[in-house]
Amino acid sequence: MTRWDRDHHLHPWAGVEGVGKDEYMRVNTGEGIYLWDSAGKRYIDGPGGMWCVQIGYGREEMAKAIAEQTMQMPYASPWSFTSEPAAVLARKLAEMAPGDLNTVHFTTGGSTAVDTALRAVQFMNNRLGRPEKKIILSREKAYHGSTYLASTMTGKERFKTQFDKADDLVHFLPDINPYGRPEDMSLEDWCDAKLADMEAAIAEVGADKIAAFIAEPILCSGGIIVPPPGYHKRTLDLCHKHDILYISDEVVTGFGRMGHWFASEPVFDIVPDIITCAKGLTSGYIPLGACILSDRVVDQMRGNAENDTFYNGYTYSGHPVGCAAALKNIEIMEREDILGHVQRITPYFQGRLRAIGEKFDIVGDARGMGLLGCLECRPELSDETYAAHLQFGNKLDAVCEEMGLLLRPFGNMAVFSPPLIMTEAQIDEMFDIMEAGLTRLS
Ligand code: PLP
Repeated sequence: MTRWDRDHHLHPWAGVEGVGKDEYMRVNTGEGIYLWDSAGKRYIDGPGGMWCVQIGYGREEMAKAIAEQTMQMPYASPWSFTSEPAAVLARKLAEMAPGDLNTVHFTTGGSTAVDTALRAVQFMNNRLGRPEKKIILSREKAYHGSTYLASTMTGKERFKTQFDKADDLVHFLPDINPYGRPEDMSLEDWCDAKLADMEAAIAEVGADKIAAFIAEPILCSGGIIVPPPGYHKRTLDLCHKHDILYISDEVVTGFGRMGHWFASEPVFDIVPDIITCAKGLTSGYIPLGACILSDRVVDQMRGNAENDTFYNGYTYSGHPVGCAAALKNIEIMEREDILGHVQRITPYFQGRLRAIGEKFDIVGDARGMGLLGCLECRPELSDETYAAHLQFGNKLDAVCEEMGLLLRPFGNMAVFSPPLIMTEAQIDEMFDIMEAGLTRLS
């Protein structure tokens, strides 16, 4: 079977050269935080699927909810109908989202949620008669998805190659990673510098041409980059001063990863104009995403019958089975107090992470927040060791995999975002393997 996959399946972000050559590990079963491969070997799922398996694998309740909805009403065209799960979930998300974010447009995943947010902003400004206000401020190292518009906003170098982008619609702000700041610079000064970058960009491009700023609360695929304290609040204030909307891309940080439904308000003290979410919304059991719009944005999108039709949507928008899965996922998270659990275990998780940074010279930075972690290899000066440094993520992942832990390699980094149900003993199990792996690499 892996042979069929090798010969016929072009995986996401895979080298085309690998079709017909590369074999992927076949995972057979999952239970809690663990996965088993086809040979029966058990692994801790460090990446939590793709940052999404919040409640863990093997939940019968989820299977039942999905099966029941499939039997009752598997599909309802969102153009003509609603379904009970879609209506209940829309209200639920409006309640969970901060401030006046009360209107939900369902999507098929994160990229389409980001796409929808960007199209809503464009639509709003066109309707307001200011079509020139359409540039989006994004950031180096940001990841916002794989559709045309969402990938345009993605600031990771390697995603800029080989594809055409809507380059006239984006302006990138420089890297905000505090790890890259000059040694003698405080975090406060770094935050000032990042605000100055943003002010300079607004002056250069012109506030009348900038529609929105899009930001992940923590840059996740960029390597778990935690902004300096105050950054989000100050950038939001700056945006609003210049009539620029703030889009918080919570595709990873939403649904408990930071111990809250959304990180924007309780963690970073901001009420954005738009939130995008997906992944943890269904704990990865079935695809679903959402773009949640504030009343202010929706009011400005309103017009008359001729010009306020928002021609955006997907065959599977508000899919009844996806919405039923999301509702069951949220019910489980509420019943088991998974948000409270994440808040309680985060200090232990982050403590073990930081201890690794102290203990291993090879690790230049051990950073994270909530149940997100990243180990970045210490940069070296000679070309030869620099090449090794860039392979750090793959090497650490390979040795940890042998010992039963999966990680996510990103060049010189290894990142992890395990299921939120992890216990303290399982945190120890995970970090013990990581330490054994680092000992072998050191
Ligand atoms: N936005 C962020 C912050 C992401 O991390 C991702 C995926 O990792 C996306 C958007 C795209 O989501 P999807 O892969 O569901 O389209």
